[in-house]
Amino acid sequence: MATSYDPDTYTKILLDESEQPTQWYNVIPDLPEPPPPPLHPGTLEPAGPEDLAPLFPMALIEQEVSTESYIDIPGGVLDVLRLWRPSPLFRARRLERLLDTPAKIFYKYEGVSPAGSHKPNTAVPQAYYNHQEGITKITTETGAGQWGSALAFATAQYGIECEVWQVGASYRQKPYRKTMMEVWGATVHSSPSDVTEFGRELLAQDPDHPGSLGIAISEAVSAAVADPTVRYALGSVLNHVLLHQTIIGEEALLQLAKVGETPDVLVGCTGGGSNFGGLSFPFLREKLAGRMNPTIRCVEPAACPTLTQGEYRYDFGDTGHMTPLLKMHTLGHSFVPEPIHAGGLRYHGMSPLVSHIREIGLVEAIALPQTECFTAALQFARAEGIVPAPEPTHAIAATIREALECKETGESKTILTALCGHGHLDLASYEEFLSGNLVDLDLDQAQITAAMETVPVIG
Ligand SMILES: *Cc1c(COP(=O)(O)O)cnc(C)c1O
Repeated sequence: MATSYDPDTYTKILLDESEQPTQWYNVIPDLPEPPPPPLHPGTLEPAGPEDLAPLFPMALIEQEVSTESYIDIPGGVLDVLRLWRPSPLFRARRLERLLDTPAKIFYKYEGVSPAGSHKPNTAVPQAYYNHQEGITKITTETGAGQWGSALAFATAQYGIECEVWQVGASYRQKPYRKTMMEVWGATVHSSPSDVTEFGRELLAQDPDHPGSLGIAISEAVSAAVADPTVRYALGSVLNHVLLHQTIIGEEALLQLAKVGETPDVLVGCTGGGSNFGGLSFPFLREKLAGRMNPTIRCVEPAACPTLTQGEYRYDFGDTGHMTPLLKMHTLGHSFVPEPIHAGGLRYHGMSPLVSHIREIGLVEAIALPQTECFTAALQFARAEGIVPAPEPTHAIAATIREALECKETGESKTILTALCGHGHLDLASYEEFLSGNLVDLDLDQAQITAAMETVPVIG
């Protein structure tokens, strides 16, 4: 028997296990034109499967370039996802009342996963496919530690070793994420580290180097290519990662249908674009098919405004020039963002797929300062109870802006957002905010200009 929802009181919309989507959705075949391919940095030819083979298992490379609209989720992946999926969709009635808005606010909550964010949605299939292909160890980078802990959890499920390079500043600021990774059996290095050549070079220049995601990626990639039995995993940016995250939007579509709603506005925070793509692509499919017409909006930090201020061009995904060239919005691969609290949004680039759909005008983008985000987070936490991770506070702040606009205009829009993680391991950020020490960090235009000069000039 399907649960029925009283329209005046429902709060949490659930799916039964039997209703869980069993396919991932690939948006590329539905786009008016496909995104430009990654290029081999030496030949500037499109990077082929053989270029990616030292890094990823073949099943993921096939998904990266797939032209199929739907890909079956293997049973061995669904078994693990069922530990927390389907995830709940909430109607934020208490926040609506607090804001006194006619808008209806819905949030899809991904903090119910073991690692506390959406990242395990892709960590699990990535670990699974590596295991299927006989790989026994995976390397990766992590910023605030969300991705590293997701992969540590996932590799533990399949008995694979996991080695993580964590951005030095976060390693020192957020010790509990490191402990979490170690609980799940991973080895964690502060990046730059003394275990790779690139890391040693950087440490020689500055022993207290704060690190960056771009540097940590270079270290994890170089460790993987040095050993043919080891592969690398990326927690965002690439097509296959966004593909795995579409389970968020597919579930949300079914959940909204249960209460007879379609969104007018969708907002998601964008670091590398994966939770945003995961939530929005199934709705973009519906929009492209003319079945609904939501405005879809990316929200990024003012201190790392990749989509709103970056240039759309080919750049490296990492600082050490180890990755293929990706066509994306970029602030320059040597750009080191200010240490804002939303560590997961401190990336110089953006998913090529999200960049592409932004470039062809299918989605919008805005940038918000972190004090507005934390102010919104307190409103949210006090009304709805959940303490959000610093990253989705950007989506919450944009949701609140939209809801307050509805109050002005009297429009009753339906707003959908992803609350992509909880902030239980980010309480130091809240402590700083509550004590008045969290400030907005100015964007250093000169640093962007300098970083853009290092971006390769192509064509
Ligand atoms: C990693 C992370 C992000 C940023 O990554 P996306 O790929 O843009 O989703 C945002 N929120 C949380 C909670 C994260 O862990």
